[in-house]
Amino acid sequence: MNSIDCSTIIPVLLPYPFQTPFYYTVPSDLQIIPLGPGNLIKVPLNGRKEIGVVWHDSTLPKTLSIPQDNIKKIKKFKPILSILPLPPLPLSLLQFVDWVAAYTLSPRGSVLAITLRGIQKIVNEKANPKKGWVISNSKHDLNGIPRTKAREKTLAYLKRQQDPKTTLQIVKEAQVSPSVIKNLHQQGILEEKYLAEKSIFQKPNIHFNHITLNAEQQVSTQFLNQKIQENQFSATLLQGITGSGKTEVYMEAIADCINIGKVSLILLPEIALSSQWINRFEKRFGVKPALWHSDLTEKQRRLTWQAALRNEISVLVGARSALFLPLNNLGLIIVDEEHESSFKQEEGIIYHARDMAIVKATLSKCPIVLVSATPSLETLVNAKQKKYHHLTLTQRHGEARLPNIEIVNMRHDPPNRGLYLSPRLVKATKKILGKKEQILFFLNRRGYAPLTLCRACGFRMECPHCSAWLIEHRAQNKLICHHCDYSIPFPKECPHCLEKESLVPIGPGIERITEEARTTFPDAKILIMSSDTLTSPIATAEAIKLITQHEVDLIIGTQIVAKGWHFPYLTLVGVIDADLGLSGADLRASEKTLQLLHQVSGRAGREQIVGTVMLQSYLADHPVIKALAKNDFDEFMRYEANERKEGFWPPYGRLTAIIISADDEETTKHTAYELSLHSPKIDSVLVLGPTAAPLALLRNRYRQRFLIRSKKNLAIQPVIRQWLSCIKIKKGVKIEVDVDPISFL
Ligand code: ADP
Ligand code: ZN
Repeated sequence: MNSIDCSTIIPVLLPYPFQTPFYYTVPSDLQIIPLGPGNLIKVPLNGRKEIGVVWHDSTLPKTLSIPQDNIKKIKKFKPILSILPLPPLPLSLLQFVDWVAAYTLSPRGSVLAITLRGIQKIVNEKANPKKGWVISNSKHDLNGIPRTKAREKTLAYLKRQQDPKTTLQIVKEAQVSPSVIKNLHQQGILEEKYLAEKSIFQKPNIHFNHITLNAEQQVSTQFLNQKIQENQFSATLLQGITGSGKTEVYMEAIADCINIGKVSLILLPEIALSSQWINRFEKRFGVKPALWHSDLTEKQRRLTWQAALRNEISVLVGARSALFLPLNNLGLIIVDEEHESSFKQEEGIIYHARDMAIVKATLSKCPIVLVSATPSLETLVNAKQKKYHHLTLTQRHGEARLPNIEIVNMRHDPPNRGLYLSPRLVKATKKILGKKEQILFFLNRRGYAPLTLCRACGFRMECPHCSAWLIEHRAQNKLICHHCDYSIPFPKECPHCLEKESLVPIGPGIERITEEARTTFPDAKILIMSSDTLTSPIATAEAIKLITQHEVDLIIGTQIVAKGWHFPYLTLVGVIDADLGLSGADLRASEKTLQLLHQVSGRAGREQIVGTVMLQSYLADHPVIKALAKNDFDEFMRYEANERKEGFWPPYGRLTAIIISADDEETTKHTAYELSLHSPKIDSVLVLGPTAAPLALLRNRYRQRFLIRSKKNLAIQPVIRQWLSCIKIKKGVKIEVDVDPISFL
């Protein structure tokens, strides 16, 4: 046995699929800087330089008694290369990474990779080519060289600085000549470092533009204010019909948070579609908020990331990955439109940003507010069980009243063959056009037609790489797969029976509705809103401007139009196919349809005029359609809750999906079969499957699924981990675990 000094060995987590940190040693010239959990450092890994983070657990004790052969192992630890000149990541972020990894059954390093995405480029140190001077790590006083007044003044000045200073700055501030700096550099006392980039974020002004809140809103803001002052974890559901002023309420909460010097994080479902939100923020606070989403440039990303870490941001608005930013000093988290399924990240690390935001708030000891007109059943149940506080806003602001909802029973009032607008909707539309108000036609389906088939032989045009139909996009004269983007020119003949001109479109997409609208309302100015026409945030903002300036009469759109837009002239919404989404294997199909249609209805009549929503349906007796007709969201959710409670479906039980995929069908099936032989035999765990996934082929990979239903009080992760460890996974086979799945495809 031998005793060894471990004080210079540190655990470092790297942003790759590793579960545990690696150990490195700290060379003596770097030891003068105290290193602790969260410090960003550069280390060698397989001959490359990588950024890693000094991890917070598994720190070794000061000294260890170790058998001889282990000492050899410890001697093999490589020294770290350098320490990045940045503050350490907050401890709560390291804990968050651990938590998300454990919950989603992902390697911790892979989760850390999401956090470090903002600074990967710093590895190259080209972020800012400008350099300045710092006191060298190895020499920090004038030992061994002659002391002069100028040298001491220079060092005294630099010791007070946190960042490198340029020659010009030192000359000016320390009142010395440039030759002193040059000389100290030659002696090895000063060294050159890259300068940090200037912060681009301005502080919001909470007094910039106040509005007077109504009594109901004030109750909510006072409650939230109290939560923000309390400085501890709390969760609140802020529920209110569209247009009731929820956004105004939480803007005040943000102001309260700024006021106490803390940071607010706001998650929006689709940040690229949030130009109106950002304008509103600017109107309220006089500056733009910091943004975090996938459309940022590399530089914006880097600046935002570093500014977050340096505490230079007070309000950050982002998409789900903003949860992984190194924000210090969080004082408030807001999740707007909390029911939106786009908060679920479906690729890579599979996580639900709303749920992880709750975890983040717990670890950061701050309040979180979930906002929605139509909260998810999960959140409603938490509110009901008093885990969350519940605030409600029941009136629309000012004169605006809720729209009238009319069901158009398509069985009684059908359109002519091959058309999709019922005579009733056409009549109502013409009336509104005559009054110079706006109309929205909503159909959540891109393209011209969802199915193309051969009139002669019945052949259906399918994607060769996915189990899915090809969608006609007539404007591009193409058939496109919406899952893998495979596309072909629209064929002149049936590929199966070779009959010419025999392929016909079945069913409508918004292109087809647009065609019908153009012939039915030839004078109307029409704008199409879908991801095919709004290809960038700028294009989206442009479209919104046209609508709000009343340069458009008729908007035809997919779910993009359902987002919290405010269209003051819009008074009629026509839902082309209210039944779409009601069928299928999705557990939340009804809930999602209701939320989406409710959201769309919320676009109507937001100012003085009462709006009308017309729902075209062939299923007028379906509970969702009936709930919509009554405009009674709560009643529908009670009905839905009962349905789910009986079968222990979420939120009364927990689901986990396991998706097995490989590029040949046999291997996929065989792996699924092997797994099924070891499936857990626990009372409170029910394993369904394996079966071919509804998308049995996706991007050339064959897919099988298990669905595991378990009781809420059981931690399912160890069960799954144990299960998956029972088989040896063949090369090329991928096994994904989706805890709390939203998609069942
Ligand atoms: P929600 O987020 O619930 O849909 P908003 O906060 O967007 O509602 O409010 C709807 C509209 O009413 C917005 O134009 C908003 O500025 C306005 N509004 C809400 N509350 C007030 C208020 N107290 N004073 C003035 N305007 C308000
Ligand atoms: Zn495809």
